[in-house]
Amino acid sequence: MRNAAAGDSLTLRAGDYVFRKGDAGDLAYVIVSGRIEILVENGDGEQRLAMLGPQDYFGELALISEAPRTASARALEGCELSVLSREYLERSLRQADPLHRHLLRMITRRMQSTIAGAATPEDDLDISGFRDARLAHERLRLLTRVRAGMSDGSLQLHLQPIVRLADAEQVGFEGLMRYHSPQQGDISPGQFIPAAEDSGLVLELGRWAAVETCRLLAELQQRRPGLFVNLNVSPSQFHDVALLQTIQSSLAEYQLDPQLLHVEITESMVMADLDSSLAFLNACRSLGIQIMLDDFGTGYSAMSYLHRIPVDGIKLDRSFISSAQDSAAARTVVAGVVRLAHELNLTTVAEGIETREQGLWCREIGIDLAQGYYYGEPRPLVGT
Ligand code: C2E
Ligand code: CA
Ligand code: CA
Repeated sequence: MRNAAAGDSLTLRAGDYVFRKGDAGDLAYVIVSGRIEILVENGDGEQRLAMLGPQDYFGELALISEAPRTASARALEGCELSVLSREYLERSLRQADPLHRHLLRMITRRMQSTIAGAATPEDDLDISGFRDARLAHERLRLLTRVRAGMSDGSLQLHLQPIVRLADAEQVGFEGLMRYHSPQQGDISPGQFIPAAEDSGLVLELGRWAAVETCRLLAELQQRRPGLFVNLNVSPSQFHDVALLQTIQSSLAEYQLDPQLLHVEITESMVMADLDSSLAFLNACRSLGIQIMLDDFGTGYSAMSYLHRIPVDGIKLDRSFISSAQDSAAARTVVAGVVRLAHELNLTTVAEGIETREQGLWCREIGIDLAQGYYYGEPRPLVGT
């Protein structure tokens, strides 16, 4: 049994021992069928401490401790057991969120200190304590501050210009979140959106961004009517009914033309869950909102899907555009995609334009709009 992996099973006959007191082991067991008795030794031999049945776990201390078994486990009847190994648990933990690892570490330590003789602290799982604790605390602190940032002003939507290539006229913006840390300056959403995604905070951030986008749109209309703003939406927000209500009520509150609000979703998100994406996208469409497919050229990029999902345009990813700089074949692909998109009546936007040459080439092959540091970095509205 020493080599058993997670998912292995073990069949026993009545009277068979799973393990005996004093055995070494790094496996825990879940009873699938049958009954197991846990036996401890006293002066007169073995005495039953517990009787376990289907779905009960036993031997789990072996997952966190290398100490020998302190009791025996024996089948009372024919049994089937599922096996969990310490190696399996450690492997999963290595890939887990550092916060989860840290919490589990604290729990196992506490457990070890309450179970006398179960283990010494050195024996516990190798879950790289200090690094995890630091990462976990940093992540928690960032999430706490970002959450507070929604009301104290340290979270902002910066706006990056989007221009029409034909005449270099600015036609809109993409809203990009920034958390302003007093110590580290502006922190990009790449650093907190994934963590927020795991913690559920992403839903609150998404609603906040929707309200903020509408507020900025209204302010922009005072200065230059007709400018649009793109709002980024993450996959987990597709199921958030409150998001659609928030968007709808903010559009009404600021008396905005819904056509000026564009929602950006990534292609991989749509493909991963076509049904719920379609429900969300159709609901947006029925409000009059336009849909842009973001990061096009990084995922499946299945052109054959494009006519099946309700989108108004595609944003060609920076890497897709920059590959065209060094390869004639890539240029042909990009130009082909643009042609096809236009045949499907989709607007095309080039992302990540950093040089004049890139912009000129995009205009040459007929891309409609462009965005990138060459035209302007994301900035708060005050400075735009
Ligand atoms: P994205 O939607 O693909 O946004 C474009 C990213 O490219 C932005 O990074 C932008 O600052 C950066 N960028 C723009 N022009 C250039 C350029 O010329 N060169 C280069 N190298 N980069 C350029 P940022 O602001 O760090 O945002 C990262 C990602 O975070 C976004 O990728 C988006 O997926 C997500 N995000 C941003 N704001 C929001 C939001 O309000 N809600 C949600 N759900 N996600 C957001
Ligand atoms: Ca985007
Ligand atoms: Ca993008």
